Amino acid sequence: MSAPALGSGPLSTRPSYRGLTAYNVESVPLRFDLSDNTSQLGAPPAAARALVEFAADAAVLGARYPSLYSPVLRELIAAYAGVAPDEIVVGCGSDDILDSTMRALSEPGTRLAFMDPTFVMARTFAIANSLVPVAVPLTAEWDIDADGLIESRAQLTYLCTPNNPTGTTASRAAIERVLDEASGIVVVDEAYGEFASEAYVAEAPSRGRVLVTRTFSKAFGLAGLRVGYGVGSRTLIGEIEKARGPYKVTSPSERAAEAALREDVPWMRAGVASVVESRRQFMEALRALGLTPLPSDANFLLVPVKDARAIAQALRAHGIGIRAFPGLTRVGDAIRISIAPWPIMSRVVSAMREVLSCA
Ligand code: PMP
Repeated sequence: MSAPALGSGPLSTRPSYRGLTAYNVESVPLRFDLSDNTSQLGAPPAAARALVEFAADAAVLGARYPSLYSPVLRELIAAYAGVAPDEIVVGCGSDDILDSTMRALSEPGTRLAFMDPTFVMARTFAIANSLVPVAVPLTAEWDIDADGLIESRAQLTYLCTPNNPTGTTASRAAIERVLDEASGIVVVDEAYGEFASEAYVAEAPSRGRVLVTRTFSKAFGLAGLRVGYGVGSRTLIGEIEKARGPYKVTSPSERAAEAALREDVPWMRAGVASVVESRRQFMEALRALGLTPLPSDANFLLVPVKDARAIAQALRAHGIGIRAFPGLTRVGDAIRISIAPWPIMSRVVSAMREVLSCA
């Protein structure tokens, strides 16, 4: 059967959308995949057991919908984050929360201001939802440019702290200014919040115009299950939930994330501590190679280099996957390397030494 005729023109009538490309990072199976900032310590033990238990009931549970809005999971997140259950919306990864928030709070043409560089999906979701993205470069000290963000008079502002891909943290003073003076809603993405010393999640509901997003994909080691959440005032959460829709967290993911919060928080915190120590050692070793990584409060380092793509390619030959960021605003070419336990990072250092001496 031939494909149905779609007409001769492009499918989308929006020129901005036609310019978008699907998120696509090279994913070659390598011995050490340090490219996506997921946990290098595996999944948390109680969550893994919950998945096995779910599998035993899969013939029945697989045929049923999960809960509409994950009340049990939200109660556990509430206790973990220090807020109330109805101040939480959960979703299919924090990507889903960012996307639903933009859909819920905008009209076509609404401006979304974001720091640059930052998580690429902020711009993608903005365009996909007919918003107009406004990039505001970071300051020379890697802080958010509070004045620039405020002056953009965008109805939505996206901040990420610690920021991906720089790893840097926005100063409290700059964040406070944006929260006080920006128009509309401010989204603070804390995907790497567990690795940082400052967090805004607990204060989001009382601030009214703030949504903090978090995820189980990084410190909690559950990226494969796609669970994220947003925290804000009840009114804001209610608006986002309408756009998010029902049944967004699958039953096994719900079970695993619940188990992780009940039993695996100490495991998670020990993992974070080991990553922070390994990051410190890796930072020193890279400096000894003459490199200047950006300060990081996350589970990765961003390292400015001359030719990011060539270095990523050369590291692949050593079985090491990292992410190349050519031509980043303020930074130029850089590579981003996720932090694994030190024995792996020391192999990365040896490989880097070899690669740089050949460059
Ligand atoms: N925000 C940031 C800053 C990220 O780096 C990521 C993942 N790379 C996400 C959100 C999305 O994470 P997830 O959808 O897995 O929760």
